[in-house]
Amino acid sequence: MPVIIYTEHSEESIKKSSLEAISYGVALAAKLNTEAISLVVGQTNVNLASLGEYGVKKVIHADDSTINSSDNQCMTTIINNAASKFNADTIIFSNTISAKGIAPRLSVKMKAGMVSGAVSLPDITNGFVVKKNVFSGKAFADINILSNKKIITLNSNAFEISKTGGEATIEKLEVQKLTSSLKITAVHKIEGEIPLAEADKVVSAGRGMKGPENWGMIEELAKLLGAATACSRPVSDSDWRPHHEHVGQTGLSIAPNLYIAVGISGAIQHLAGVNRSKTIVVINKDPEAPFFKSADYGIVGDAFDVVPKIIAAVKAL
Ligand SMILES: Cc1cc2nc3c(=O)[nH]c(=O)nc-3n(C[C@H](O)[C@H](O)[C@H](O)COP(=O)(O)OP(=O)(O)OC[C@H]3O[C@@H](n4cnc5c(N)ncnc54)[C@H](O)[C@@H]3O)c2cc1C
Repeated sequence: MPVIIYTEHSEESIKKSSLEAISYGVALAAKLNTEAISLVVGQTNVNLASLGEYGVKKVIHADDSTINSSDNQCMTTIINNAASKFNADTIIFSNTISAKGIAPRLSVKMKAGMVSGAVSLPDITNGFVVKKNVFSGKAFADINILSNKKIITLNSNAFEISKTGGEATIEKLEVQKLTSSLKITAVHKIEGEIPLAEADKVVSAGRGMKGPENWGMIEELAKLLGAATACSRPVSDSDWRPHHEHVGQTGLSIAPNLYIAVGISGAIQHLAGVNRSKTIVVINKDPEAPFFKSADYGIVGDAFDVVPKIIAAVKAL
């Protein structure tokens, strides 16, 4: 029974977190002695055969122009139909906002045990034990999925993308008339910014910036580094920055390779959304700021002195 990997895309590219999920699904399928299939829903300009480079031999493509990928109910129906048609009993998602809406619905439809936020491949020596983050990343839990059907959502940056080479065949999936109790009235796309959830580097700032008028240097540093911008919750609550930049327990959970925190105290609720970052750099004028305990590098200093110096140094490089 094959493993299906739900593969998210923009119109022009496959999301990095989905490539990680494909590599994970391919490795899992090898362990289970079965085949890994990528499922792509919606129209895209991506050459889907090239997903074969990541180890899948087949891509199922539901490209009906009427599909609205923001409608989680319809997406669940499509993935459920694909699972039945291809007799798949394991579905892999990357742990994205879409997956958070779709995977639990699919779990009910398929009667599948589900683990969200997996951080490594299942141990199948005695059951099907999946390791996941719990308590906002402070601990791990090993969950044994007992049902025959299984759903896993994989944390971003938890599994390396691996290229094996090759081309995949593409099989179209007919989409039956979809019904939904939801009506999507508008979708507002954020244009021209590096999407925070996908960003490799993030420059984030907090209340230490004093006011929205001081964000110019944060944006400049982010632009120079090719980074996305983020902020603490009080900053977005005060409308200094848009809500889609808010990271933490009640905001986005991110795991970039580099997270630079400027004027953020490091409250536990903030750390919950960023402590999976690979390298954390903290800039704070208070040497006792709790964030320094989680930092790989710390600069004790006034952001208004330090950040311009970093900008000048990056420009010089
Ligand atoms: C249920 C709940 C959920 C929450 N969820 C979130 C969440 O998702 N995300 C989140 O961020 N918070 C969340 N919070 C709020 C959280 O507890 C903190 O209040 C918040 O993170 C603090 O934001 P801050 O660090 O920007 O501000 P502050 O705590 O005010 O810290 C500002 C920091 O800036 C430093 N500073 C000041 N001036 C300068 C300067 N010139 N140069 C350098 N440093 C300077 C100060 O030393 C201080 O450390 C939540 C709280 C609750 C109760």
